Amino acid sequence: MGANMRELRKQAVEELGWEQRDPNRYNIDGIVRDAWINGNGSDETWKAAVEKHYKRFMVGDWVRITVEVEDGFTEHHYGPIENFRKPDGNHYRRHVANPHAAFLHPEHTRSHVVPLADLVEEINDFEIITEWSQVHEGGPQHNYGVYSCIGMHGPYPPPATTLVIHKVSGRKKRFCDACNTPEQRAGLADEALMYQRNAKSTILELRADPTLITGPASEDRWDKSPAEQYREFADVFPWLVPAPAAELYQQWKENQNASAAA
Ligand SMILES: [Zn+2]
Repeated sequence: MGANMRELRKQAVEELGWEQRDPNRYNIDGIVRDAWINGNGSDETWKAAVEKHYKRFMVGDWVRITVEVEDGFTEHHYGPIENFRKPDGNHYRRHVANPHAAFLHPEHTRSHVVPLADLVEEINDFEIITEWSQVHEGGPQHNYGVYSCIGMHGPYPPPATTLVIHKVSGRKKRFCDACNTPEQRAGLADEALMYQRNAKSTILELRADPTLITGPASEDRWDKSPAEQYREFADVFPWLVPAPAAELYQQWKENQNASAAA
């Protein structure tokens, strides 16, 4: 049985490899047991076993948590999983196949024990574009239209190979393959978080009175009215504008266009 089990394990790892899956992210013994020892070995049984024994999260994986802070704001915080915890927050003594929660220590917050169900893979928050023509669209003339990686390279950065877009804010950065890491991507999201924190009073004002954004313009072109300042804010940070104010601003813009066309 021992030798046979070793053989089956090896076979399962090979099979996962053919399916372009990382064997490290699977409980191999579980798959062998469910698919081939207790199961009938059919394609469906194999698929079900593979799905069941996938480890969605592992120690070291970067994840995002959503943290509720004061005044009804929520923040996205990122960090690597340091270890797994029981429902009571204590450590597991032995390796467990299905841990309950993860302990993490994001840079911008205190430590958290978070149920696995509340974790999001950090990569989900980003769109990764690798098509050269898209990555270098509008690239700088002085560099033959090629953007450089903005990672830490000193004076001679290599060309960027990826365009990383933070989905929530739409903010973008270009990296080489080596710099396109969870940590660097989290840095992009952290910048968006800092803008959110710095804009807190503006957001609260627009939340309390969305009509502020449609107020009159100033007569004096050198002195902007409050409404004009809110509209400028909305143009630069559209993702930070509360929904009712964003809707009013959209209508306001359509009215402006209509009266300009009339
Ligand atoms: Zn780089």
